[in-house]
Amino acid sequence: MDFLPIFVNIRQQPCLVVGGGEVAARKVSLLFKAGAVVTVVAPGLSHELADMLRAGDIKHLAREFADDDIRQPVLVIAATDNRAVNQQVSALAKARGIPVNVVDDPELCSFIMPSIVDRSPLQIAISTGGASPVLARMIRTKLEGCIPAGYGRLAGFVDKFRDKVKARFSNVNQRRMFWESVLEGSVAERVFTGHEDEATAQLDQAIIAGDAKGQFKGEVYLVGAGPGDPDLLTFRALRLMQAADVVVYDRLVSPAIMELVRRDAELIYVGKERDRHTMQQENINQLLVRLAQEGKRVLRLKGGDPFIFGRGGEEIETLAENGVVFQVVPGITAAAGCAAYSGIPLTHRDYSQACVFVTGHLKDGSIDLNWKVLAQPNQTVVFYMGLHGAPDLCKNMISHGMPPSTPVALVQKGTTPEHRTIIATLDTLVETVNTHNLKPPTLIIVGEVVKLHEKLDWFDPHASQGKAVKVGRW
Ligand code: SAH
Repeated sequence: MDFLPIFVNIRQQPCLVVGGGEVAARKVSLLFKAGAVVTVVAPGLSHELADMLRAGDIKHLAREFADDDIRQPVLVIAATDNRAVNQQVSALAKARGIPVNVVDDPELCSFIMPSIVDRSPLQIAISTGGASPVLARMIRTKLEGCIPAGYGRLAGFVDKFRDKVKARFSNVNQRRMFWESVLEGSVAERVFTGHEDEATAQLDQAIIAGDAKGQFKGEVYLVGAGPGDPDLLTFRALRLMQAADVVVYDRLVSPAIMELVRRDAELIYVGKERDRHTMQQENINQLLVRLAQEGKRVLRLKGGDPFIFGRGGEEIETLAENGVVFQVVPGITAAAGCAAYSGIPLTHRDYSQACVFVTGHLKDGSIDLNWKVLAQPNQTVVFYMGLHGAPDLCKNMISHGMPPSTPVALVQKGTTPEHRTIIATLDTLVETVNTHNLKPPTLIIVGEVVKLHEKLDWFDPHASQGKAVKVGRW
């Protein structure tokens, strides 16, 4: 983190803006919105600033900047088109320990101005640390589009109930769950549609009952986290990741995704490496039940899709047997993610009319699959957990009729910053696994479609994913 994002209270505080042009005007109006007492020092003023002066919103010193101007302000912004002046302002402010911003000149700044989504009292500040203000603005535009204007009203509305709710629930967990139900439930909808009276009545009632949506009970969200790239999460996955009290996750969930779970959520790692189960499946099932029965919102986060070789079915069976409320959120399974990022269409009119997902690792360690069905032309076979059984896999595919020259793709850590695609054929697969020292998680894609990789490969993990996050177990 290069900068600490904070929100500063400048209400009734003196702030100085050096420069009287349009750029300065934008900064002045922000400071004014935040309640500051703004003085502009500049020989002349833009129309906008002149209007503000007439309206009594700002003070004006109609002259060049002088050193003494930096005596009492709590914040200084330099927005002149003269770098020497900006430099002088910056140096003086820094010497006096006054935060200073020089527009479009990060070197001279002690603080930078973010792009802002303003739904006061709700505010979102976006920054690229000065690297690309345009990118920050683009992100802001996206957020503006997807955050309903009503959220500001909602924040203002619930503020009035904070003390009441605090008095009603001494338990922090209960209080948070109450607010979450309110903010996601019908009270919020009432506020959005302008029925604040009804919202007030509903919320008052909920406070008396101590409950905003039936009874507060723990629940489990079985969520697919996709193959690794956080951009592949669903909106719902992200929302629940940020709502959970406790996160039960395993090895396949990438560190970049773990970064997105609620900061103060309890994290429980339950492992699951081949032959090295940190926690037995049965214990995981029981753990989920116990946590939910303690009244927690439990996020069971799994790599890929929870229902594809994820044992998600077993976990929710136990929940159902114990009457625990749950929901399942699908994720992008490794086959879809790896194939897309490696430029290998899983089906293609010319090469493959079917696609089969199989596991290369059975309960007892063997791979006893229906090879006759798998070794067919015009289909793509995707092996999950196939690395260990690769010799068996090749031998059986070939002995059941697949040409030894059938192309195979090995995709390791697909969609992550360490994404690797290695191409082989059925008869060179084992040797390739060894020479490239391939490790799980690796997906094996067998079929003619693999040929398309050469032409359609597009993903450069280094260019598109930035720095690898150095936490977790990958
Ligand atoms: N539920 C998961 C699969 C779990 S089985 C899903 O839907 O994707 C674990 C196997 O999935 C691994 O052994 C590997 O074969 C494959 N896998 C999962 N994530 C992967 C990734 N990012 N890159 C390559 N293979 C992956």
